[in-house]
Amino acid sequence: MKKYSLPAIALIFAFASCTDTDKKSGMNANNSFTTYKQNVIMDLLKRSPSFATSQGLHDYDSILVIPTNGRKLEDIAFSKAQLDSLSKFNIDSLNDVNKTDYELLKNQFESSVWRLEQFNEAAWNASDYNPGSNIAEILNYKQHPLAVKIKNIVAKMKHFKEYYDVAKANLTSPTKEHTELAVQQLKGSVGFYATSLKDSIKKATPLKEEADKQLAVVDSAIAATNGFVGCLEGLLSNKDQQWKSCRIGKELHAQKFKYDIQSGLTAGELYDKALKRKAELLVEMYKLADKLWPKYLKEESKPADSTLLISKVINEIAKTHVKPADFQKEIERQIPILTAFVKERNLLYMDPSKPLVVRKEPEWMAGVAGASISAPGPFDKGGDTYYNVGSLAAYSPEEAESFLREYNKYVLQILNIHEAIPGHYAQLVYANQSPSLVKSVLGNGAMIEGWAVYTERMMLEEGWAKNTSINGAVEEDEMWLFYYKWHMRVVCNTILDYSVHELNMSKEDGLKLLMQSAFQEKAEAEGKWRRATLTQVQLCSYFNGYSEIFDLREEHKKRLADKFDLKAFHEKFLSYGSAPVKQIRMLMEK
Ligand code: ZN
Ligand code: ZN
Repeated sequence: MKKYSLPAIALIFAFASCTDTDKKSGMNANNSFTTYKQNVIMDLLKRSPSFATSQGLHDYDSILVIPTNGRKLEDIAFSKAQLDSLSKFNIDSLNDVNKTDYELLKNQFESSVWRLEQFNEAAWNASDYNPGSNIAEILNYKQHPLAVKIKNIVAKMKHFKEYYDVAKANLTSPTKEHTELAVQQLKGSVGFYATSLKDSIKKATPLKEEADKQLAVVDSAIAATNGFVGCLEGLLSNKDQQWKSCRIGKELHAQKFKYDIQSGLTAGELYDKALKRKAELLVEMYKLADKLWPKYLKEESKPADSTLLISKVINEIAKTHVKPADFQKEIERQIPILTAFVKERNLLYMDPSKPLVVRKEPEWMAGVAGASISAPGPFDKGGDTYYNVGSLAAYSPEEAESFLREYNKYVLQILNIHEAIPGHYAQLVYANQSPSLVKSVLGNGAMIEGWAVYTERMMLEEGWAKNTSINGAVEEDEMWLFYYKWHMRVVCNTILDYSVHELNMSKEDGLKLLMQSAFQEKAEAEGKWRRATLTQVQLCSYFNGYSEIFDLREEHKKRLADKFDLKAFHEKFLSYGSAPVKQIRMLMEK
């Protein structure tokens, strides 16, 4: 990784100008916009040191932003000033790269103002106040010597007391769900400060006197964190506590959908689309389950009810799964097999110099997802990409069994396609090579999730289900059945998110949707319900992005007929970085 420097950035933007074929006035407009966006992205990162760290820019690692009201007003003023600057550019005179960057920046600043003025998460989301994962990211950064990282972390931790005093004052209307999450995650952070961080200090600082000073700062930071945890636990044990609802309601949900997804559809339109897809999937699943019945359940009489039939076949096949202790090992085994398949079938070029490291999910991440990818940002091109795998160690035997039936032999393969190859991992490697820093930094979540979901279907279409290198035998019907079941999950994510936040769905009905219509195991359904109450809109991103990418590919296929090349389509699509699909569509169709 190269440390950020101005010449490197200038080079990045020189690429953007090369594509400019406009007339002289257009060239001037593009030049001035290129200068503007270069400065504004750097300003944006400077204003948000933890965001900068996550993007691989480590210049501000020592700074902790104290979220005071004064600071909030400054942030609003900053975004409004940027919107004003943007309005002075004539978007029609910009080239394609700049046009889409313009739209991303405009959305970013409008969304920022809306979040601070209307959404006001600082007042209700206690889990927002946890620098633990940021500190771990700083400690994990390979290009700084350990002593420099410790110095930065200690400088940051000196302000924890002030930070948590402001956090307590900000949290005027907490939700119970986010408060419970905060307690769990903050305890994870404290465990990390007390062990890994302290050990690193002892290693980095041989001078005992100096090390003792640093350790004392960590101890006072732990005390400040524990003080905040104690305050939250006090709220949780107070029977008279008035909690804010974790459901954000129709108006805020519709607005957040607009800013976060940047889709051509409204939240309501996507919800209707999901309901239709759910009905289609049930038809396909019934056909396969009916066909598989004699293979797995020939002793039993076939139920007349189609939902019951599907559910019985799924439950029987789901018994095929790895042992709890082998979960991570099996993931590690599958990665090279998936890579070889993508190469052999000519689906996408995969850069062999980018390593994917499978690791146990770090403790500060615990609580929301079972598996995830952490990739280096645009400033950290040499950094490792991690595949974080949730540990089953804390599960009871019943919980582990339920989890493993959900992530059974067939679903585990689809999970690896989604998270790693050619899903998130491959997409993020391409995104970091995108010549637009705006798109690398302000990536569109729906495009990112949509790509991963799209690749699941694409891999099966290209013959993964016939592949014997994982299964040992051809089990095509089983793979497709579980693909549809998995895909049903994405469809139901949209239905659930919309229903929780806009339609006031009860937990009972939510679990019923997931367990009966989407055939999910109890542990998975409970986890998804929790996630739907802790997040808003994000669960819609998967189905939205998938639909837009799949439709785009089908249109290209139809138009180009014999000339359509799947690998070329994928590489072209990914080459624009993590932009909203509707914008990539515009660029690809030009
Ligand atoms: Zn079992
Ligand atoms: Zn994903």
